[in-house]
Amino acid sequence: MKLSKLASGIAESPTFALNEEARLLRERGEAVINLGIGEPKNKTPIAAVLASAARLTSGEVKYTPPDGLPSMKKAVIRYTEENYDRLVAPENVIITNGAKQSLYNIFYSILNPQDEVIVLAPYWVSYNEMIRMCTGNPVVVTPEDGTFTPRFEEIERAVTSSTRAIIVNSPNNPSGAVYPPELIGKIVELCEKKGIYMICDDIYHKLTFDGNTAEPAYHFSKNDVENSHVIVVNGVAKLYGMTGFRIGWAIAPRDLVRVMTNVLAQTTSCVSPIAQAAAEGALNGLQSVVEALRLHIQNNRDVVLQEMRTFNGVRLIPPAGTFYILPDIRAFSNNSVEVSKFLLKKAMVVTVPGKEFGMEGHIRISFAGSVKDVTEGIARIKWALDSTSPNEIYIGDRKMIRDWM
Ligand code: PMP
Repeated sequence: MKLSKLASGIAESPTFALNEEARLLRERGEAVINLGIGEPKNKTPIAAVLASAARLTSGEVKYTPPDGLPSMKKAVIRYTEENYDRLVAPENVIITNGAKQSLYNIFYSILNPQDEVIVLAPYWVSYNEMIRMCTGNPVVVTPEDGTFTPRFEEIERAVTSSTRAIIVNSPNNPSGAVYPPELIGKIVELCEKKGIYMICDDIYHKLTFDGNTAEPAYHFSKNDVENSHVIVVNGVAKLYGMTGFRIGWAIAPRDLVRVMTNVLAQTTSCVSPIAQAAAEGALNGLQSVVEALRLHIQNNRDVVLQEMRTFNGVRLIPPAGTFYILPDIRAFSNNSVEVSKFLLKKAMVVTVPGKEFGMEGHIRISFAGSVKDVTEGIARIKWALDSTSPNEIYIGDRKMIRDWM
């Protein structure tokens, strides 16, 4: 079969592949715990259910304008004013099939062949693949000091005449790092000076702990949205636990939104009005659901930290946001793919190899699920890797004995 070079060079999404593997194991009756995928376990907020149900029962389920339903855009405009202190016009907003489609359409709309986008490691798995799909080159900047926060000087040094954008994801998937406000401010200044975009993937922006907040890039720009080089991408997947509704959006200057709208119209026409109504319901509904989710996640984070403290050999940087932790497992192996495979085989726990995020020697553990899964999952990981932990454990109703060290 003949396939295009471009498409066949695109890597499989490791988190979805692992999710599928876990599902198949569970179908075979194995007691798998999935600490791989980043998906809160809450039920859809009631305001979202009611709004989408009302749309469905109206029978008005047709194409919407490609850039989104006016009422959904209004909800995003209000959200942006409330959370970013920025006035936004409808022409600055596009509603997309998840934050993912916003990101892809941004890259598609700003990149010419070989243009560069600076990606900060550790990075979310999809950025590099999306940039390549849009014929660009990802240029990865990795912190040299063993932390998860790149130094500004390293970012500045990576800028060339081919750089079109820097993508910033804080709070960060996979590390849980929240970049300091000074770093965000300096990146905004750099982008505005050089005339390049700063793409802020803000999908976790309210999921922060211990009074930490993620400072919006807009706060450092003197320009209004229309004249700014800051682009904000957000959505309902993580904050409202609405991953399956596939609703995201981008806020950008209108010329870029116009091009992105053409790309969306020619590829997917629009986003389902049922899903848009659900997201509108969530944004206009009681915001205590977000805080409830955040508190649940913060509690899980505390449990994770407590469990990990007695994990011999593992080095940790406590996450300040998101629902991920990225422990350094080099005391056991430098090969994170092998470690993740080993953990699935022996302990029936799904984790994601750090290699996928540009951080070899680490594994990503998601603590978005139930506290029971998180506690048991970490106990199993400890059992599998740490020779000082008790060598017997129950996995489901099977008693397992560690016999490999
Ligand atoms: N950005 C980051 C950093 C993410 O972790 C994810 C989801 N894993 C997305 C974007 C995509 O969000 P959505 O589900 O809205 O497409």
